[in-house]
Amino acid sequence: MARLDWIQKELKNLKEAGLYNNIRTLGSPQGAWLEVDGRKVLNFCSNNYLGLANDPRMVAAAQDALKRYGVGPGAVRSIAGTMDIHTELEKRVAAFKQAEAAITFQSGFCANLGTIQALVGKRDVIFSDELNHASIIDGCRLSGATIVRYEHCNPASLEQVIKENEGTYEKAMIITDGVFSMDGDIAPLDKLYEIAQAHDIILMVDDAHGEGVLGKSGRGIVDHFNLHGKVDIEIGTFSKAFGVVGGVVSGNAVIIEWLKQRGRPFLFSSAVTPPDVAACIAAIDILESSTELVDRLWENGRYFKAGLKDMGFDIGFSETPITPVMLGEAPLAQQFSRELFENGIFGTSIGYPTVPKGKARIRVMISAAHSRDDLDDGLDAFEKVGKKLGVI
Ligand SMILES: *Cc1c(COP(=O)(O)O)cnc(C)c1O
Repeated sequence: MARLDWIQKELKNLKEAGLYNNIRTLGSPQGAWLEVDGRKVLNFCSNNYLGLANDPRMVAAAQDALKRYGVGPGAVRSIAGTMDIHTELEKRVAAFKQAEAAITFQSGFCANLGTIQALVGKRDVIFSDELNHASIIDGCRLSGATIVRYEHCNPASLEQVIKENEGTYEKAMIITDGVFSMDGDIAPLDKLYEIAQAHDIILMVDDAHGEGVLGKSGRGIVDHFNLHGKVDIEIGTFSKAFGVVGGVVSGNAVIIEWLKQRGRPFLFSSAVTPPDVAACIAAIDILESSTELVDRLWENGRYFKAGLKDMGFDIGFSETPITPVMLGEAPLAQQFSRELFENGIFGTSIGYPTVPKGKARIRVMISAAHSRDDLDDGLDAFEKVGKKLGVI
């Protein structure tokens, strides 16, 4: 057993540092209210932005697909796993985003891994925002390209590192999160696009938290900045606002064609299941039919943020419904989360390595599924716990 002693030691360290993931279990569908560890609580931490995860229209679409296509795809996409609904979803995403084409993956994580390594390699360079998501970082590492970080959301810093590295590489890519998941701020994609154009560099944005949130009817960050047809690659996920699971790459048709030949999770991991695919198509139907859910999401986000701010909480610099409640040290954030739970509120703490050391927080995730009463109950609990722990 000695060969595993180090793990026990590391786990103990995590617990002492307040960084151990205590995983709670849901006994209900996603929604504003959940049954968590056997208790009914108000949910402030899932990515179900629009309440679609348990929407009856989505469930019905999945059930229909289940009857028609069964449960599994039976193969990877490039061999025998491409069903007509997979290609239909890709066409629908491309049309929704006004992109030339789209390709789906099993998750946003897979989309990042597959896309980056298909486009750059050892002799190439990636200019990467310093706060990019873990799946981008892993995709960059897998590619073998040189990774050069630039200051968070800072076009001048990007410009500078491009100049510093001029002549040292064959190909280059700029990669950024669209909406930064832990802070809720938005990448200056219009400026990044200008820089990418000026230097003829491939531009990629990961819009996991912008889809269903930013732009008209949730069309995402490219729509938000009116950059249709200009951003080479837009990564998306169906696991957040879409309420399902799966990843997607939309953008330049040549890149999409190449990913069908060289995107490794597309070639070597089985396709998304038919019910999931059908539910994703239903989500697009819902978004295209009305802006109601997206509007309510933003209204709820503004209301909750204003409430927390009035109480004196530090809620960072979010420009979206993501609301970080900054607490500093991880043990305090964990204690805050436990106290919230005692008060019937589910809000998990987030610490290193998901956010930098000393920047632990409760990341409040607002949803269109919340009623005004839900939001008021949440605010009351934050006030009570914040005062008890001396945060406000
Ligand atoms: C959540 C997230 C992902 C991963 O998406 P999944 O579909 O859950 O794998 C990728 N990138 C960013 C920026 C994310 O926030």
